[in-house]
Amino acid sequence: MAEGIVYDVIVVGAGIVGSYTAYHARKAGKTTLLLEQFPLPHNRGSSHGQSRTIRSAYGAQEYYTKMMNKAFRMWKELEEQSNKKLLRQTGLLCIGQKGVNYLDETAKCLQKNKTPFRRLDDENFQATYPMLSFSPGIGGAVVDCSAGFLLAGRALTAIQNQYRKIGGLLKDGEKMVEIIPGEVIRVRTDVGLYQAKTIVLCVGPWAKKVLTKLGVAVPLQTQKIKVCYWKEKIPGTFSSRQFPVFSQVNAIGPYLVYGVPCEEYPDLVKVCLHYGPAVDPDYRDTVDDNWVKEALQKYVIEHLPGLEPYPVITESCIYTNTPDEDFILDRHPSWGNIVIGAGFSGHGFKLAPVVGEILSKMATGLIPEEDMSYFKLNRFTKSRL
Ligand SMILES: Cc1cc2nc3c(=O)[nH]c(=O)nc-3n(C[C@H](O)[C@H](O)[C@H](O)COP(=O)(O)OP(=O)(O)OC[C@H]3O[C@@H](n4cnc5c(N)ncnc54)[C@H](O)[C@@H]3O)c2cc1C
Repeated sequence: MAEGIVYDVIVVGAGIVGSYTAYHARKAGKTTLLLEQFPLPHNRGSSHGQSRTIRSAYGAQEYYTKMMNKAFRMWKELEEQSNKKLLRQTGLLCIGQKGVNYLDETAKCLQKNKTPFRRLDDENFQATYPMLSFSPGIGGAVVDCSAGFLLAGRALTAIQNQYRKIGGLLKDGEKMVEIIPGEVIRVRTDVGLYQAKTIVLCVGPWAKKVLTKLGVAVPLQTQKIKVCYWKEKIPGTFSSRQFPVFSQVNAIGPYLVYGVPCEEYPDLVKVCLHYGPAVDPDYRDTVDDNWVKEALQKYVIEHLPGLEPYPVITESCIYTNTPDEDFILDRHPSWGNIVIGAGFSGHGFKLAPVVGEILSKMATGLIPEEDMSYFKLNRFTKSRL
């Protein structure tokens, strides 16, 4: 038997995307229910952990840089509302790589969007960051001065608290098990039955399973990401006061390596590979990912000699990748009142305030101002639907 109330919007999944979506819908005056399968907080999805990089630099994908202008403002607003420090501005050091013109594209995009940045040639790069070791000829680096990192877990709790504060209902430890489409959608959980005019699916790594049940084939791949923390040999060398967030494209084979300076845990630098083994989110820790640690060890020994050459702490998280690493922000092809936010491909956290606003607008009959052409579902499934 369904609850009597028909919600304007039910959002499934209280990760950072779903939480921001529910917040925007509630802020727009809609009756909103946010459902989460696990008791909160949990570390089984993609939004947990200490930090996430925030940056404007996006190589040639200028549409994300544009979205970031708004996202930075929204993160600052959440800091004010929650009276919590959520963002540390350290700059982002984009390290060059032989044969890759990512730095030129990044500099061009930052300049066009009026984001402050610095260009360092090989010599300046080594002089400014003597704790790093890269051979000349990589093309130096670009520093995106707007960048830094978000305190992820704290930010997730902050937006959920704001959502509740404005009257939003959040039910955790309650799994959505069935969606019965219709003009009024019915959502069955393992606890009860709810009704809504619109449902927004923000189920992170579970998107492929949920969408398959709804007849939508999406080429999403979930990957287990090993989050590795490395100890400084001399405390203070990589302090966030003097060392920025960094990344290098094609650092290990075709994969990017990124890092966050010491702050999350004293004396520990986070250095990770932007790639990992494919995994079912319900069996995350059954895959062998030791090769990731070994590949990173080689990288750290070669390029970060100020760190002990083995990770002292490792944690796990899941990416949900699309083939082009662009998000999916669209509607179900047959039922327009089922909105889908998926495939955040390891870079969705920083953009969640804007993505949540987009999904909330789609759920409430408004047209997002952003260019939505990059985020269509049918770029993968046209021929099959
Ligand atoms: C190691 C790592 C590093 C990252 N680094 C960065 C970074 O530096 N910068 C950046 O911007 N992004 C980064 N990302 C990506 C970013 O964290 C993700 O894109 C973002 O967290 C995705 O959020 P989400 O809400 O889509 O997914 P999730 O956080 O996984 O949320 C989905 C939620 O849906 C719930 N759910 C699923 N099925 C159901 C159901 N049937 N019923 C109820 N609830 C359900 C899940 O339990 C989960 O809580 C990183 C990700 C990882 C893993």
